Amino acid sequence: MTRKWIVGNWKMNGSLSANQDLLHAIHAGLSTASCQAAVCVPAPYLAQVQQQLLGSALWWGAQDVSAHEQGAFTGEVSAAMLRDFGVRVAIVGHSERRQYHGETDALVATKAQRALAAGITPIVCVGETLAEREAGQTQAVVKRQLAAVIHTNGHCISEIVVAYEPVWAIGTGKTASPEQAQEVHALLRAQLAAATDHPERIPLLYGGSMNAANAASLLAQLDIDGGLIGGASLKAADFLSIVAAASQ
Ligand code: PEP
Repeated sequence: MTRKWIVGNWKMNGSLSANQDLLHAIHAGLSTASCQAAVCVPAPYLAQVQQQLLGSALWWGAQDVSAHEQGAFTGEVSAAMLRDFGVRVAIVGHSERRQYHGETDALVATKAQRALAAGITPIVCVGETLAEREAGQTQAVVKRQLAAVIHTNGHCISEIVVAYEPVWAIGTGKTASPEQAQEVHALLRAQLAAATDHPERIPLLYGGSMNAANAASLLAQLDIDGGLIGGASLKAADFLSIVAAASQ
C-alpha cells in the first residue's frame, strides 16, 4: 500500500452554507496532496457535495447504507440511491451505529455487501470498547467483527476498506498509541491474508481522535494506511494538515 487514504466523517454536522465554505477550503488546499482524500457527509447534502466537487480529486461518501435493496424501509437510503449521487465510499458499522442503532456484525456485513454490489467501497469499522480492552478482549472483538464481513463477502473482500476505530478513542481526545494501533492493524492484516491473496491492497485506516498533531506518528506505522477522521475533519486547516501528513 503506497497511497494513503484520509477520510473525513462529518457525522451529523453541517449546513448548506458551512459545507460550501468547508469544501471550498479543502478543495483549494488539496492541490499538492498525494493521498486519496474523501469526505463522508450527511445524506441530505450529497447533491450539494456532488455539485461542488464534480471533477475534484476529493471523493465524497456516505456514513451508512441500507442493508436492503429497495422497498418499504422508511427512512433508509439504498446503495443505488447513493450511487446516483456519485458516492464512491460508504462507512458501514461505525461504532455510533452499532451502539445507538443496535447494528449487529451480520447487519454490517450485509451493508458492506449492498455497497459492493452498487460499486461503492464500504469502509468497514471495527473496534473494541474500553471495557472490552480492559478485559483483554480487543483481538477477539475486532476479529469477530471482521470475520462476519469476510464470511458474507467472500472474494469481494479485496474491494473493501477497513477502519480500526477503538470506541474509547472516538470523539474523546484519547488516541491509541501508534504501537497499540499497529498491533491491531497487524492482526487485521493477518486475518485478511487468510481470506485474500493480496491483503496489502486493502487499506487499513485508523480512526479515533486523529488530529494534526498525532497523525504523522500513527501514519508512520507499517500497517496503518490512512485515517478516518471525525472532529478534525470539520476544520479545513486540521483536515489538510492530516492530508499533508499522509502525503509525505
Ligand atoms: C469517527 O467518528 O469515525 C472518528 C474517528 O471521530 P473522532 O476523530 O472525532 O474521534
